[in-house]
Parts: sequence; structure tokens; C-alpha cells
Amino acid sequence: MPCKLVAGNWKMNGLRADLDEMRALIAAHPDPDCGMLICPPATLLAPMADLAQGSRLLVGGQDCHTAKSGAHTGDLSADMLADAGARHVILGHSERRADHGEGSDLVAAKARAAQEAGLTAIICVGETEAQRDAGTTLEVVLGQLLESVPDGANAGNTVIAYEPVWAIGTGRTPTLEQIAEVHDALRAAVPDAEMSLLYGGSVKPGNAADIFALANVDGALVGGASLKASDFGAIIAAL
Ligand code: 13P
Repeated sequence: MPCKLVAGNWKMNGLRADLDEMRALIAAHPDPDCGMLICPPATLLAPMADLAQGSRLLVGGQDCHTAKSGAHTGDLSADMLADAGARHVILGHSERRADHGEGSDLVAAKARAAQEAGLTAIICVGETEAQRDAGTTLEVVLGQLLESVPDGANAGNTVIAYEPVWAIGTGRTPTLEQIAEVHDALRAAVPDAEMSLLYGGSVKPGNAADIFALANVDGALVGGASLKASDFGAIIAAL
């Protein structure tokens, strides 16, 4: 059985004062039935890992460099994330693919670096609205999967997140049939059938249970609704 995981991506949100939300989350969910992960901005990684000590909350990064160290101003290595207490790292998020021109080859190289640092890579794939309208969703998503997942990826070191670009931060979600179609195709294509498959894109307390009921959905990658302990906790409770 793939591991169940609810992951929060705080993106470029969160100051030290927001750590109180994590204290509330830990207090409300001391023993969740699934993995409970928050990927804060890098500035909050170490303090969040410190406050998560002794709890079931996991913390992760939002990106890493391919190299272990060196002259790369502003970047962070997978080893640095692990050293700060991260267990996971999100890679190939559509915002990085768009804002930083990251292609799948680079994502695969980053995932290899994450593997070497002992981190679990959460590799994101997803189509744009134009690609969905053109009927190329499966082609796009499976192509990204093939190119972004490196050799050596297995259920222990890799999670796949399906995030339709047009559903991110828009309040729009695909139909359950559309989510199921992509997740079923991903399940058939991943190199290890036990790999967890997360859905992401406007997941909220109100739609989480229906999405989690789909056969090949093993959890969620949550953006906006992960910033508040009450919303994120409700999504965890729905899994
Ligand atoms: P929202 O949940 O805010 O739509 O963001 C999804 C996402 O991009 C998570 O990585």
C-alpha cells in the first residue's frame, strides 16, 4: 500500500509568528493516520523542524540545487535542507518551472541530489489549461513523469504530485473523473507501484474527502489551505 501523506506547500508565505499555526496543528493532530508534512520557506525550516521535534509533523524544502555545495549564490543544497531537519523536498513545482524556467531534465538532476542526501523528492507534474483544452493532458503529464523521475526512484525516496496548473490557487478543481483518469495513468506509469500519488490544486476541507476517496489518490499537496492549522487539520482528518 502506498503511504498516505498530506503535504503543505507554504510557497513564499510565512514569518516566525506563523509558527504558532504549527504549534496548533501538532496539538490538534498528535497522532495522525497519515504523514503530515509542511514545506515552509527556507527561513523557517530550522525553527519549524525544532518545534516539530518529538511530534509527528515532518518538514521539507521547496526546492534544492543539484550540487552539494559551491559557488551558487542564493541556492540551497539537498544536504543543507537535510541538515536543517528536512525529510522531503518539493521539486519541479509548476511555479518553479514557470518562474525559473526549470525543465524536467533539471528536475531529475535535483531529484538525484535529493536521493543522495536521503531526502524524499516530491516531484510535481501537471498540464496547463491550454494543454488540457488541446486534449494533451495525459501526454504532457506522463512525459513530465518520464523525464523528471530519475533512475533509482522508488516508493521510499519519491512521491509524485499531480498538480494541474490551472487548478493552483484558482479555487477551480478538475472533476473527480478527470483526477481519477490522470492518477490511474500515473499509477500504471510510475517505476514503483507503491509510490504515493498526491493530488494538488485548490484542495480545501470541503473537497478533500471526495478526492481522497479515489482509488489512486494517496494524499494531497496543499497550498493556500496549508497556512492555517484549522484548514490543514481538516484536510488531514479527511484522509
Ligand atoms: P493551492 O492549494 O493554493 O491551489 O496550491 C496548490 C499547490 O501549488 C501546492 O503545491
